Amino acid sequence: MKVLIMGRPGAGKGTQAANIKEYYGIPHISTGDMFRAAIKNQTKLGLTAKEYMDKGALVPDEVTIGIVQERLLEDDCKKGFLLDGFPRTIAQAESLESFLNENGIVLDAVLDVDVPVEILVRRMVGRRVCKGCGATYHVEFNAPKKDGICDVCGTPLIQRNDDNQATAENRLNVYDKQTAPLLEFYKKRNLLKTVNGNQALDKVFEDIKAVLGA
Ligand SMILES: [Zn+2]
Repeated sequence: MKVLIMGRPGAGKGTQAANIKEYYGIPHISTGDMFRAAIKNQTKLGLTAKEYMDKGALVPDEVTIGIVQERLLEDDCKKGFLLDGFPRTIAQAESLESFLNENGIVLDAVLDVDVPVEILVRRMVGRRVCKGCGATYHVEFNAPKKDGICDVCGTPLIQRNDDNQATAENRLNVYDKQTAPLLEFYKKRNLLKTVNGNQALDKVFEDIKAVLGA
């Protein structure tokens, strides 16, 4: 099972990635984890990536690609893998494609966990957190017993600065703009499988299994 997973921020991609990893027994490879591992193992590429990250700069494509390739050639990826957070650009997708071709690795599917933008905005805007104990609520989907007050410790709840409408919409628009060409890229190759992410989490996973062939 060789799969790539995509989804708008807040669409529940992380939860489904964990489900896929466990159910299919394949490594979950996220770019963030790969960077940390490459740096920890002090691979040449890991050290290069660290130089950029230490400067607060973006890690260039060729470094990211190199780290993904190193990871995909490890033994545990032979039976399959779940790639998460990569590729992010067409250049990365093209280089991943030629790398897979050169190594005789065939991608089974590109999953897109789809939740409409307006639903994600509603989810983000309704979030409330307790500064006292860290408990999280949602004004619509997980409201506290007493309006605006933490059930656990009685502290007034706050809305995080970046959970407002404009920030949420902007974040999602940026994601869509970056991702649209990638979805098109994989659609052309008949790999794109869109799963409705706007339903109960276990139902989303049922649909994923149906798409992947459980
Ligand atoms: Zn609290």
